[in-house]
Amino acid sequence: MIRVDIQSKNFGATPVLGSIRFDVSNGQTIALVGPSGIGKSTLLRIVSGIDSDFRGTVVRPEKQAVVFQEPTLLPWRSALENLCIIHPNLPKDRALDMLERVGLGGMAALFPGQLSLGQQRRLSLARAFVGAPEMLIMDEPFVSLDAQTGRAMLTLTKELIAETGPATLFVTHDIHEADVLADRVLKLQAGPQGAILAV
Ligand code: ADP
Ligand code: MG
Repeated sequence: MIRVDIQSKNFGATPVLGSIRFDVSNGQTIALVGPSGIGKSTLLRIVSGIDSDFRGTVVRPEKQAVVFQEPTLLPWRSALENLCIIHPNLPKDRALDMLERVGLGGMAALFPGQLSLGQQRRLSLARAFVGAPEMLIMDEPFVSLDAQTGRAMLTLTKELIAETGPATLFVTHDIHEADVLADRVLKLQAGPQGAILAV
């Protein structure tokens, strides 16, 4: 499971996060909501280990996957290579199965620039799940997709989470997404020394 115990996070002299404590147990999905600029992405970067410049501790499992708002795919690598580079011991047929699973069957040789935004998001999702992560962090994974694509990806993500069972923490602005995916919703609100969890 993930155990978050943040005392404070500042950017320079500006406090961004105050005291924030919560756990995400294995198989549990928590949605993180709150106004723009409150510190949601900052919190996700701390939980995922990308930002270690804070006071406090985060305990996380070994096998981690992060899905950002913008797809972070390697532009000069094919869809298949984008999966295999991150997971060097991954059997090729397993990678191909996962591409098929997310609706990218037959597109293994295409480069990210040849895929639509929705397909790039699907590829990011495939890359995240193919390693069977114990921890999944997602920052607004469905934002700026058309309604139909967004719904399809939401359903797919729900299925993959149910099959894989990671401790999942994701940011959303969409209460419907939180309803569909999350067991629990945490809300960040402004406090005197940076954002804290609303009770
Ligand atoms: P959210 O994801 O909730 O919209 P962010 O975590 O991106 O909010 O940002 C929280 C606050 O921290 C904002 O005021 C933002 O301007 C500031 N901030 C974010 N990243 C940096 C950075 N690298 N340096 C300085 N300030 C930052
Ligand atoms: Mg953000």
